[in-house]
Amino acid sequence: MIIRIVIGLIFTFGAFAVGGRRLFWLFKLIRSGKKDSTRKSAFFKRLTTELVEVIGQKKLLKKKVAGMAHAVTFWGFLILGFTIIEAWGDLFDRSFAIPIIGHWAVLGFFEDLFMVAILVALLIFSAIRLKQNPKRIERKSRFYGSHTEAAWLVLLMISGVLISLWFYRAAQVNTNHFPYGWGAFASHLLADALHPLGTGVNSVIETVALLANVGIICGFLVLVVYSKHLHIFLAPINIAFSRRPRALAQLGSTPDLDPENMDEDTVFGAGVITQFSWKQLLDLATCTECGRCQEQCPAWNTDKPLSPKLLIMSLRDSLFKSANQILGTTDNSEANDLPSLVPDVIEKDILWSCTTCGACVEQCPVDIEHIDTILDMRRYQVLMESDFPTEAGTMLRNIENRGDPWGLGASQRTQWTEGLDFEIPIIDGQIPDDIEYLFWVGCAGALDERARKTTQSIARLLHQANISFAILGQSESCTGDSARRIGNEYLFQMQAMANIETLNGVNAKKIIASCPHCFNTLANEYPALGGNYEVIHHSQLLAVLIEQKKINAGTFKAKVTYHDPCYLGRHNRVFDEPRSVLDAVDGVEQIEMHRHREKGFCCGAGGARMWLEENIGERINMNRTAEAIATGAEVVSTACPFCMIMIDDAVKAYQKADDVKVLDVAQILETSSEASDLKV
Ligand code: SF4
Ligand code: SF4
Repeated sequence: MIIRIVIGLIFTFGAFAVGGRRLFWLFKLIRSGKKDSTRKSAFFKRLTTELVEVIGQKKLLKKKVAGMAHAVTFWGFLILGFTIIEAWGDLFDRSFAIPIIGHWAVLGFFEDLFMVAILVALLIFSAIRLKQNPKRIERKSRFYGSHTEAAWLVLLMISGVLISLWFYRAAQVNTNHFPYGWGAFASHLLADALHPLGTGVNSVIETVALLANVGIICGFLVLVVYSKHLHIFLAPINIAFSRRPRALAQLGSTPDLDPENMDEDTVFGAGVITQFSWKQLLDLATCTECGRCQEQCPAWNTDKPLSPKLLIMSLRDSLFKSANQILGTTDNSEANDLPSLVPDVIEKDILWSCTTCGACVEQCPVDIEHIDTILDMRRYQVLMESDFPTEAGTMLRNIENRGDPWGLGASQRTQWTEGLDFEIPIIDGQIPDDIEYLFWVGCAGALDERARKTTQSIARLLHQANISFAILGQSESCTGDSARRIGNEYLFQMQAMANIETLNGVNAKKIIASCPHCFNTLANEYPALGGNYEVIHHSQLLAVLIEQKKINAGTFKAKVTYHDPCYLGRHNRVFDEPRSVLDAVDGVEQIEMHRHREKGFCCGAGGARMWLEENIGERINMNRTAEAIATGAEVVSTACPFCMIMIDDAVKAYQKADDVKVLDVAQILETSSEASDLKV
């Protein structure tokens, strides 16, 4: 007995001393990040998320086999927590049983059930890792670039915990110290096999297996806090503090640009690691290296240097490498000695490759907020270093000087109305009471030749449905979405303040937006600056009008595949309405692309990439359009002018323009209507 106690306590105190020291070090390191006061609100929503994502394993279960194996392991260890209590109790008393429940047959059954189930799950994990061996599959594997060797060691250690537990319980049966009856079926099965060895040998097996169990658990704890498996402890914390309802749609922070609140130490964005917030540093430490983000990233899938996983890992490595310097730093000025994030840690091409499509955030099982981190680095580059791709300069100048990214100017904003056979009121003063909606046309909708056709279709459909609406005409200006996502927060806020002044001035309440980027900015980003409106995307309104029978859909015979715009679908969860508009049209045969809805693949235009050259790897729009064409669709439909432009360009580049049309859902609806003479 004394051997058990001495060795068990040595293992325990050793693990707690080494592991505790590391955890305290991590705590101090993460606390070195900037303050973030937004993380304490919405306690009950956070609690629900914790239950759904951590206990329910919701995001992990998106991958059926791997997710189920992970969920079984997680749920199993919640139950096997009882066996850990029993093992430590047995160090001191061979007949130990947990008070009250310690002899319940049902508990013994579940302990054994999960012991066996986790062993099966470990076999599945091993098969997945062997199949996705990064050395064989290279870049396509989601584990490419992950520290897979440590993962094998972890699988081995968990197996060790379970096998030693099994032997220790079986031997306990034979020495009459086991607290459970036949409910613990697996322990009794193995006990039958060990029984012929006699009580003496079983006593030795019991002690050796118990100490092995305790020792491996202690070793595992130490390994966990020194490896990427730290997520076992950090994931529930990171998820609890994640942005609610999710880190999509609006950006995480809206910097205060009031000169009165700035001094010479004011920094915009993040130039060195300590200029990230504590939550961003916690994100870095929490990454499991699972590669779910990398697998979905349009930049990575078209051979760009950006992988959201590798980006997070590089930042984490830099954080850990600079730890001594950071923890010895009490004075901000020493931050100058830390490596600059761009280009020392992250190459410029990595930074500018992001389309802010949100696929990484959507997939991440531990709720890491990649886009906010990328945007903070972009903000620093643009606002503090004036260092950004030259093409972006033209777009930014055009917005600043002419009010739109093309630089065409306000005078052309109403040209699209010229072909209509009815008048659209242009607001000058307050919106009259008899006008229900303000139609926010957007720069593309007003100025791009292809997008103008969609705008006209929307206007005709609204007119047909007797919806009263008006436009701002020359008073409308760029929302600033592209400026914000390239990192120019100054220009964004300048545009936003001007537009909010205009919108509040006309007393706008209900706004229709046809561009998902405008829709997102007006609905989700202007409130932080004083602009609060009820914003609806045209696909949502059309779906309602069809349901109310104010629009009668007709016939449009074609195979149609719908491309989800990232800022409508993933960022704002508008997946069903555009599809329901198509469903309402007779003759439309909808075919889904493999990557659709939450897993939709970006067209390549978001994150201000619309205005940047794409010189590295395959063009994202070509990749997406190839998938659309491969469905055999005659029409690629979408609900975003940017997506329309990108996909239309790619269809032409594939010389498929005669066979495949690119149309907004509004155009299909209008074309189907008998009242329309528009033919595709
Ligand atoms: S937002 Fe999209 S492009 Fe950017 S890193 Fe994430 S998945 Fe890749
Ligand atoms: S960032 Fe999230 S999804 Fe990507 S590898 Fe890390 S844990 Fe997995």
